[in-house]
Amino acid sequence: RPSTPVADTAPVPAPAPVPTTLDAETLWRQDRDHFVHPFTDFSVFHDKGCELITDAEGIHVQDIHGNRFIDGIAGLWCVNVGHGRAEIGQAMAEQATRMAYFSTFNNLSNAPATRLAAKLAELAPAHLNHVFYSCGGSTANDATIRLVHYYFNRLGKPNKKRILSRHNAYHGTTYLAASLTGIESNNWEFDTLDGLVTHLSEANLYRRPEGMDEAQYCDHLVAELEATIAEIGADNIAAFIAEPIMGAGGVLVAPRGYHARMQEVLRAHDILYIADEVVTGFGRLGHIFASEAVFDTQPDVINLAKGLSSGYAPLGATLISDRLYEVLGTPQGKGGVLSTGFTYSGHPVSCAAALKNIEILEREELCANVREVGPYLEQALATLSRHPTVGDVRGSHFMMCIENVADKDTKALFPVDARVGDRVAFEAQQRGLIIRPVGHLNVISPPLIWTRDTVDEAVAILDEALAATAESLR
Ligand code: PLP
Repeated sequence: RPSTPVADTAPVPAPAPVPTTLDAETLWRQDRDHFVHPFTDFSVFHDKGCELITDAEGIHVQDIHGNRFIDGIAGLWCVNVGHGRAEIGQAMAEQATRMAYFSTFNNLSNAPATRLAAKLAELAPAHLNHVFYSCGGSTANDATIRLVHYYFNRLGKPNKKRILSRHNAYHGTTYLAASLTGIESNNWEFDTLDGLVTHLSEANLYRRPEGMDEAQYCDHLVAELEATIAEIGADNIAAFIAEPIMGAGGVLVAPRGYHARMQEVLRAHDILYIADEVVTGFGRLGHIFASEAVFDTQPDVINLAKGLSSGYAPLGATLISDRLYEVLGTPQGKGGVLSTGFTYSGHPVSCAAALKNIEILEREELCANVREVGPYLEQALATLSRHPTVGDVRGSHFMMCIENVADKDTKALFPVDARVGDRVAFEAQQRGLIIRPVGHLNVISPPLIWTRDTVDEAVAILDEALAATAESLR
C-alpha cells in the first residue's frame, strides 16, 4: 500500500512546554529507580534516595530545594578552580560547535589535544615530555600498566610484570586499576586480577608500630620494599605505583624522605616509579605537580585526571619520560602500531576545558593561594583535635582529613554501624558545609579558591558538627 503522503505544510507539533522549575519529587524518584550510583550504600539509598545537587558557583553548591552549601570536597577532589567558570564553559562550547569530536588514532590529531600535550610537557619535570590521553584516573592507571608491560616486552624483559602497590592505595576501579587499589573494602566481593599486584604496607604515621619514631618508620618501610624485591626478584617486577599523599585511603602523608628513598631503591633494581597524581596534581599541594616540587622524586610516569580539567569534562593523562618514549615511540616491526588507546583519547572538548582550566590556575595564581591558605587550613583544623572523637587531623595544604576514634589513647575505632564518618558529614551538611565521609574518616579537599575567611567559616561549622556527633554517640 502506498504510504500516506505527508504534506509539506503539515503542522509542526508544538514543542513540549519547558519546565520552569525542576520537579524535585519526579527527579528524586527517577534517580532512585533508575540510576545505579557508584560507591553507594543501597540499603540507605533505596529508602532515602539521593540528594540532587543542581547548581554550583564559586565555592558553593545548591541542592534542588534551594539549600546552599560550602563545597568542602571540590566535587570529588577535582573542581580545583571552583564552580561556574563561564570561560571554561565557553571554551568547551566553542570547541564543540567547531568540531566536537574526531579520531586521534592513525596519525590524526586535533588542536586542543596537541596544545595541551605541549603545555603539560612545559609544566612537567624536565624529563617528562610525552602525553598519552585517557578518560579519567582509572583509565590513566590502566593504560599506564599496559604501556609499562609493553615497554619491558620490547626491551626483551617479558618477565618484568609484577606491580608493587600499597595497602589502602586508591588507583581506580577498572579491573586493572581496582587490582592496584589496596583498600580492602573497595574490592569486597569483587574479583581482582591474580598474580599481578603485590601490596606493600601503606605509610601511616598515626598507626605506625609502637615505639618507632618517624625516621625509624621510614627505614622500616624502605626495608620492606627491599625485602619484597629480594623475594619476588627484580627481574619479575615492572613498576611501583604510589600516590604522593594517599587520598581515599585516608590522606596519609608518608614520613619525611620516604618517596625519594623508595625511588632510590627502585632505580637500583630497574623498577619504574609511577606517581599517581590524580589528586595531588594541579595545585592541591601548592604546585602543579607534587612529585618533584614537594617530594623530590623524578617519576618515570606521572598520571593525571581530576584537577587537569577541574572536572568540567572527563579527562586523564599519562606523562611519559623521554626514556620510556624512546621505546614506546618505535614500531615493533614493519607496520606495527602502539595498539592501545580510547575513542576519547585527546577528546577536543575535554582538552579545550583543560587548557582554559590551566590558564585560570596560572592567571589567578591558585598554587600560590594554596601555599598561603593551606598552612592556615592545617592549623585551623588541628584545633579540632580537642574533640573527644578526633584521633588525628592530618594532611597537607588543601588535602586534609579527620580520623574519628572511639578512644584517643588506644586509637580504637567506633563499630562500623555507628557510621561515625557519615554522622559528622551529616551534621556538617545540616550547617551548610559538604565534607566527605570515608568509613570512619572525613575528608576535606576544597576548591583551590578557598580564602582564610572560608576556612574560618568551614572550621566553625566542623567544630559544631563534631560536638553534635560526640553528643549523639554518648
Ligand atoms: N587515582 C587516584 C589517586 C584517585 O584518587 C582516583 C579517584 O579518586 C583515581 C585514580 C581514579 O580516577 P577516576 O575516578 O577518574 O577513574
